[in-house]
Amino acid sequence: MFEKILIANRGEVALRIHRACREMGIRTVAVHSEADANAMHVRLADEAVCIGPARSTDSYLNKPAIISAAIITGADAIHPGYGFLSENADFAEMVEKHGITFIGPTVEQMRLMGDKITARKAAIEAGLPVTEGSPALETVEDARLWANKIGYPIIIKAKDGGGGKGMKIAFSDDDIEEAYTMAKAEAKAAFPSDVVYMEKYLQHPRHIEMQVLADKYGNVVHLGERDCSIQRNNQKVIEESPSPALNEQQRREIGEIVRKAIAKIGYCNAGTLEFLYENGKFYFMEMNTRLQVEHPVTEAITGIDLVKEQIRIAAGAQLGYTQKDIQFSGHAIECRINAENPQTFVPCPGKIEEWHAPGGLGVRVDSEIYSGYQIPPFYDSMIAKLIVHAGTRNAALMRLRRALEEFVIMGVQTTIPLHQEIISQPEYLDGQYDIHWLEKFMQSKNSPTEDKGE
Ligand code: ADP
Repeated sequence: MFEKILIANRGEVALRIHRACREMGIRTVAVHSEADANAMHVRLADEAVCIGPARSTDSYLNKPAIISAAIITGADAIHPGYGFLSENADFAEMVEKHGITFIGPTVEQMRLMGDKITARKAAIEAGLPVTEGSPALETVEDARLWANKIGYPIIIKAKDGGGGKGMKIAFSDDDIEEAYTMAKAEAKAAFPSDVVYMEKYLQHPRHIEMQVLADKYGNVVHLGERDCSIQRNNQKVIEESPSPALNEQQRREIGEIVRKAIAKIGYCNAGTLEFLYENGKFYFMEMNTRLQVEHPVTEAITGIDLVKEQIRIAAGAQLGYTQKDIQFSGHAIECRINAENPQTFVPCPGKIEEWHAPGGLGVRVDSEIYSGYQIPPFYDSMIAKLIVHAGTRNAALMRLRRALEEFVIMGVQTTIPLHQEIISQPEYLDGQYDIHWLEKFMQSKNSPTEDKGE
């Protein structure tokens, strides 16, 4: 087992990884920017190294500084968390070249899944269902031909895309030139390659993803699904497991398909396969080769600590259990709480004057915040994740309502009021929502012509 792990991240996920290490008897090294000198993960880690100025490109994305910190402190592994360098194959390669273990899959697997065209190809070969799609598009004419072959609407995507950038939808031949040209231009500006391709555009899908764990010896389990359809600007807001849209048989079926595909690809460590789900069918979208923000809902219903499993697998341990040992229990929901104006979503960094997190049975809060903490303006605005777990979806919703009521955060605005509103809407309560539901709900709330019945 590793003796010392460097945590190449900040915020709640740095703390999450520190906690797992501590419980495994592993020493931790925090790295931090100048702006994060007082952060909780820095205070709790065994050692801390400042790796640069506030800007992420100078610190949390600064590969040589992070690797130097690992060498100086004698860390034998690096956990990248999520975001930042977690899916950067070049970083993983550099880490391994220095004789340090990167906690994640292999560099080749990261490269395969990091490119949407090769990932789609691997998915098809491994038996995963995908939307109809094209190879790389060479010209506008090429795009038009493929769009007619697949049938409108279509979505053009950058092969190296991420964060929702470089994606354009076309509904007819009239829009195809603009969609192709703009997607290519956006890709050129944001990513290493401007190569784009096309997929059938689904109009009312849900976002349902499957969590997998695989060791280096070909053992694979799936840990069920997470429904992440409550989104804004392609950013997840609330996640739950199990999905209200699936029955037991559908869950078993997609679980088996995924398990076999992962075994065939030979993937190793924790991973998430993201699907769009519409009219009873799944369509593979992409695989995230890292820990997800929403992993705690899976931990709640399976009792498996995903971070500890990532570390054990990276150290060469066997899973030690098979699919039939995985028991799913009850229902879990996560709310991402951001320091933002809940109407406009404008970030609202500042000083936390008072902080009281909810507790009690079935309530988990993952957060780096403490009273008096100054939220720096340089990073993501998520300041806490509230996760509830109960026997049924209804009981989980009641618990979530009560926990949100107990949460006190003074000094900055947060999205807690938005969460309270969402979870009291009849469609949410009935589980009847797709990936567009939240944006439509926000529009209807903000539209002055709408009769709000007040
Ligand atoms: P990124 O890597 O940039 O996040 P994804 O491929 O994961 O891009 O897609 C991001 C989001 O775009 C999805 O969550 C979904 O809302 C939408 N999307 C992507 N592909 C399709 C599609 N074929 N049909 C409908 N919506 C899509």
